[in-house]
Parts: sequence; C-alpha cells; structure tokens
Amino acid sequence: MNSTVFSTSPETYWSHYEEVSKYNVHLNVFEKLWEAWYAYMQNDVLATGIMSFVMHELVYFGRSLPWIIIDTFGLFRKYKIQPNKIPTLKEQWECARLVLLSHFTVELPQIWLFHPMAQYFGMATSVPFPSLWTMAYQIAIFFVMEDTWHYFSHRAFHWGPLYRGIHKIHHQYSAPFGLAAEYASPIEVMVLGFGTIGCPIVWCAFTGDLHILTMYIWIVLRLFQAIDAHSGYEFPWSLHHFLPFWAGADHHDVHHEKFVGNFASSFRWWDFVLDTEYTPESVKRWREKKAEKAAKKAN
Ligand SMILES: [Zn+2]
Ligand SMILES: [Zn+2]
Repeated sequence: MNSTVFSTSPETYWSHYEEVSKYNVHLNVFEKLWEAWYAYMQNDVLATGIMSFVMHELVYFGRSLPWIIIDTFGLFRKYKIQPNKIPTLKEQWECARLVLLSHFTVELPQIWLFHPMAQYFGMATSVPFPSLWTMAYQIAIFFVMEDTWHYFSHRAFHWGPLYRGIHKIHHQYSAPFGLAAEYASPIEVMVLGFGTIGCPIVWCAFTGDLHILTMYIWIVLRLFQAIDAHSGYEFPWSLHHFLPFWAGADHHDVHHEKFVGNFASSFRWWDFVLDTEYTPESVKRWREKKAEKAAKKAN
C-alpha cells in the first residue's frame, strides 16, 4: 500500500510549472504560472474558486491598509473631507470583522459558482491571454455598464422601504473609510455585485469574447474604485482633477454625509444628467420642488 503511495507521490506546483515551460516556450511567465496552477489543481472549479477568493481578500484588505495607516497616524489630515470624523482603530476592526463574515458566508459560495457559470457563457480560462488592447477596451465598457447599473439600483435603495430594510446598514458610517466599501447588507452586496459580475457575463453572452483574466483585472480595478471612493480623502492629485467625469471620494463622501444625491459609482454623468448631483444649490432646488409638489397635492 505504502509503495503505491510513494510511487504516485503528489507533484509540486513547480514541477507542473517546469512541465508547462518545457512544452510551451511561446508563453510568457504569467501564462506559464497560470497554466501550471490549473494543471496542479486538477479541478478547474476549485482552481478558479480559490484564486478568485484569495485575490478578492488580498486586494480588499491590501488596498484598505494604506487608508488604515493614514487614518491611524493622522497623515494627510488636511486632505480629509470630514476632518472631524476620524475612524478609530476599534471602529475599523468592527467593520473589518463584519465584512470578513460576509465574505465567507455570502461571497464565498458565489465565487464557487463562478467557474461553471463562466464556462456556461463561454468565458476563456486558458492561455495565451488576450491582448492588452482587448482587455483595456472591454474593461472600459464594464466601467460604463456597472456605473449605470449602480446608479439606478443605488437610487432605488434610497426609496424608503428599501432604505430601511437594506441600504441603511451601508450608511452606518456618515464619514466613510476604505474598509467600509463592502460594509452592507448581503442583499445589497448581491444586487450591486451583479453590476460587477453580471455586466461582463452579459457582455460575454452577447459577444462570446471574454477571458477570465480580463474579468479579474476589472474586478481589481473596481475594488480599487470602491475602496478609494470610501477613503474619505480628497487630494490635489485625485483622479477627478484630471478626468472631470470620474467620481472618486469627492463625489461619494458627500453621499454618506448628506444621504442625498450622488448615486453613481465611477462616473459623474448620470447624477449630472438626472439632476441628482449634490451641491448646496441643488439641495435648495430639490426642496423647493418637493414643497411645490406637496402644495399641489394639498390643493
Ligand atoms: Zn446610499
Ligand atoms: Zn458608500
């Protein structure tokens, strides 16, 4: 019995890497690492599931870490949008605990379903990777699609019953911080998460052209966007100074502070076109409109 165990002793990841390298000289290092991972795991669902979950955790907490350090050590204080509301370490830890809990209970099972779903819609998981240009234009399309989905579902979440039943949790922090990006009800995580996961899948269902790596890079960028929008800091070098239609923390912080307006995630155009962009003047205008409506009703 033992002899069979020894003769089929498990191969290491690196022996797979060497094997892949030997027969695929045309692949680059990343493609070889990728291919060796799938060969080593011998189970595509598990390979994609583990990779996705680990990536999500590393990016989420990795990207939040600089913001935690900045808050804790009082760095860049003059750029804090709501300077009187600095999250304490305890608050951030409480938030991280709840986010982690929802990652393991709500997101993990969904991530597990990801590979079968991706395969069903014809998403490529093999090497070689798509060209940089293909990834870039597809990701740009996903940003526009997700932002639209986010705007309308987030606006709907501010309707009384949905707000009280679901979205209120996310608004617990009136001065947000990076870790609070995914602090939300599981229902909200699912609905808004559909924008992030569903948009590329809809794209793939129509065009049949999507690689899972493009999807990963998109998700990483989207996580960066969400965490930075919640960071609570507005710098002279923030992206929206160079791309005026980019939303950023400047746009979303005020949504947490005032609870009205600024519903979109990445861009400013939907709020601008549909008159939900927060400014002191627009609030005045909205109030007058509301009063007019109420007066008409009373008559
Ligand atoms: Zn909201
Ligand atoms: Zn938020």
